[in-house]
Amino acid sequence: MDQDFAGKVAVVTGAGSGIGEATAVLLAARGAKVIVADLDADAAGRVAKEIGDAAVPYTVDVSDPAACEAMVRAAVDMFGRLDVAVNNAGIGGPQAPAGEYPLDGWRQVIDVNLNGVFYCMRAEIPAMLAGGGGSIVNMASILGSVGFGQAVAYVAAKHGVVGMTKTAAIDYAQQGIRVNSIGPGFIDTPLLAAADQEVIAGVSALHPIGRMGRSAEVAELAAFLASDKASNTTGSYLLTDGGYTAQ
Ligand code: NAP
Repeated sequence: MDQDFAGKVAVVTGAGSGIGEATAVLLAARGAKVIVADLDADAAGRVAKEIGDAAVPYTVDVSDPAACEAMVRAAVDMFGRLDVAVNNAGIGGPQAPAGEYPLDGWRQVIDVNLNGVFYCMRAEIPAMLAGGGGSIVNMASILGSVGFGQAVAYVAAKHGVVGMTKTAAIDYAQQGIRVNSIGPGFIDTPLLAAADQEVIAGVSALHPIGRMGRSAEVAELAAFLASDKASNTTGSYLLTDGGYTAQ
């Protein structure tokens, strides 16, 4: 297997499950030391144990800016540098039409999915600059470019992630930090575990390839963007959506 990340240090948030887990596993397999960061300490511990010596579990709430700073400090204290960050932690939030959307649900989704990505980037960028550069991958969604009923907070947050990514990419393009975002279609992860089979079948049918995506497929794109192979790619929003947004 490629060793694109030999000698590199990566932080992956939301790495205790789904897309983040698959990304942490792949980066470690390609040579990175990985901070497996998640709100769920047990999940972070399980994934770090599965990876082995290359991983360290870390408990973080990305909606807390001080916790994001402490996470980056811990990475630098442990490994001396930070090269890669995959800001992936996210939640689905309540489902309701915009005019009835619960205010606490709005605040929670914006806090985790939008503010959390900003707080992480704000902490990660100075650490990457200190090491001469780095690569940041923010997990957006197809819902960073199109709408979806009953999900106003999620859609707003993901559109925001795409915009923040482009702006941070411009801010640091001359200083060796690339910043990109990913737009997965619906991916078969625990985030969708609450949905019943009828809903899953309906969602699968929305994708021209006829199925939902897999975490490992998103991880491949994250690893590409995080690696030096993507040295001319910054400010981009790349889809892995089975054709969802091509229609
Ligand atoms: P997942 O399986 O639910 O994993 C998300 C992980 O993030 C969970 O371990 C969760 O912990 C953790 N997390 C939640 N809030 C957090 C916080 N405040 N701080 C730190 N960690 C937190 O979800 P996933 O499907 O892999 O989604 C990962 C990312 O991909 C999200 O940003 C999501 O919006 C995006 N995405 C997913 C899909 C999809 O269809 N699955 C499609 C497009 C984009 P808990 O379990 O304790 O909450």
